Amino acid sequence: MKKYILALDQGTTSSRAILFNKSGEVIAQKQKEFPQIFKQNGYVEHNPNDIWTSLLTVAKEVLLSKNLDAGDISSIGITNQRETTIIWDKKTGEPVYNAIVWQCRRTSEYCKELASKGYSDMIKEKTGLIIDPYFSATKIKWILDNVKGARESAQSGRLLFGTVDSYIIWKLTEGRVHATDYSNASRTMMFNINTLEWDDDILKLLDIPKCMLPKVLESSDDYGYTTLISKGKIKICGVAGDQQASLFGQACFNKGDFKCTYGTGAFMLMNTGDAPVFSQNGLLTTIAWSVNGQVTYASEGSVFVAGAAVQWLRDGLGIIDSAAQSEPLALSVSDTNGVYFVPAFVGLGAPYWNADARGVLCGLSRGTTREHIVRSALEAIAYQINAVIEIMEADSEMKINTLKVDGGASENNFLMQFQSDITGCNVLRPICIETTALGCAYLAGLKSGYWKSMNDIKDNQKIEYEFIPDISDSKREALLSGWKKAIERTVL
Ligand code: ADP
Repeated sequence: MKKYILALDQGTTSSRAILFNKSGEVIAQKQKEFPQIFKQNGYVEHNPNDIWTSLLTVAKEVLLSKNLDAGDISSIGITNQRETTIIWDKKTGEPVYNAIVWQCRRTSEYCKELASKGYSDMIKEKTGLIIDPYFSATKIKWILDNVKGARESAQSGRLLFGTVDSYIIWKLTEGRVHATDYSNASRTMMFNINTLEWDDDILKLLDIPKCMLPKVLESSDDYGYTTLISKGKIKICGVAGDQQASLFGQACFNKGDFKCTYGTGAFMLMNTGDAPVFSQNGLLTTIAWSVNGQVTYASEGSVFVAGAAVQWLRDGLGIIDSAAQSEPLALSVSDTNGVYFVPAFVGLGAPYWNADARGVLCGLSRGTTREHIVRSALEAIAYQINAVIEIMEADSEMKINTLKVDGGASENNFLMQFQSDITGCNVLRPICIETTALGCAYLAGLKSGYWKSMNDIKDNQKIEYEFIPDISDSKREALLSGWKKAIERTVL
């Protein structure tokens, strides 16, 4: 009997392997960090070999830790840092350049050029994305333009492109399978999310040879097998980008279901059903997953500074010792005493879209204490998320009723209660906050027959706590109106 699903979570700073049982519980996990390469001009890279060896190591270790072998594993699910771009030689397996990480801004000038030439609408209609260095397409072009001989090799069919999932699959299957899933493909800025094909017009515009692109499969599908983790074959059956995997792991299967991950930044995804919703307010449209021949779309918004505001209280101001301390301090005062903090350290994203905005702390009086400032930082996270939720609702003409949450800062009870109050929604925090890994495990297990249906998965959902709104409408409006005034002050 196959006992477990093995989830491989290849993240930006570490690789992790987690074993899940049928109830969706974590049985064992291993994690390994790997080096970040920061070069001149804000270039950010990873060595693909570090990505691969760290992941293979934790995968082997987690099986060993429980004395398991291939026969105990139903299948493997893979989730990954999205958009990060790798190009390698299919004969030697050697990458022609380091992985260019999603954060890397090296193609900003080229992206500006594309926008100024009027390609924004075309890109948005086809891919659901805004033209930005974040996505893979311009990173591929950069490698083909800058690595000697790369374009010719690519044209001759010798080079392969992959997001991190594709590269891992290729390595795990020892070159037998070159594939990605719809969710990852939809982050490359060259995949047409309407026709579900690589887009010839965009490939031509960027001069990217189609022969280097992976085959695009469902998120729950047959990706071959590996014999490298343990003696015997283990099938790879599930693949999804990290944010989409967490939407799946939170069982957000219905139109209007919403999740928010509270990490360094905050990532919000809303299931919009079987049709893409194109935003009027700068949100992204993306493919959430494809399961049983059915493609599900999502609307995506992010907040640049969420948990990072708490890090700044600790490391920048030095007024707290740990992130967790922010909770008792915030709860020790009944309000912020009129203080608002907008942590616009790197400008403001949706719905404000102002790259020149900078942070403000306003409403200070002689009575202001550090407790008020700490509380205002936590409240700011909730206000920013609320603003994205408002535009998601407006774009999709759907009402979000419950927020499913995960990520490090979701452990903060004050923050979760305030989010519930300010958004007027119930906030559900699951017992298992490893929702990203759980999501790819579910996708894999559905294909390998470990779970029979999405209903089985829904039954696994266990809520640790439900926060219910507990303030009056007038209080909510007064707080939101103060926040709007504070936002106006972020422009000097
Ligand atoms: P990431 O995956 O982006 O590294 P995590 O999900 O690990 O993020 O969450 C870490 C972030 O959450 C940090 O920015 C940290 O300041 C914040 N954080 C962690 N615990 C708490 C807490 N109890 N209260 C508020 N913020 C927290």
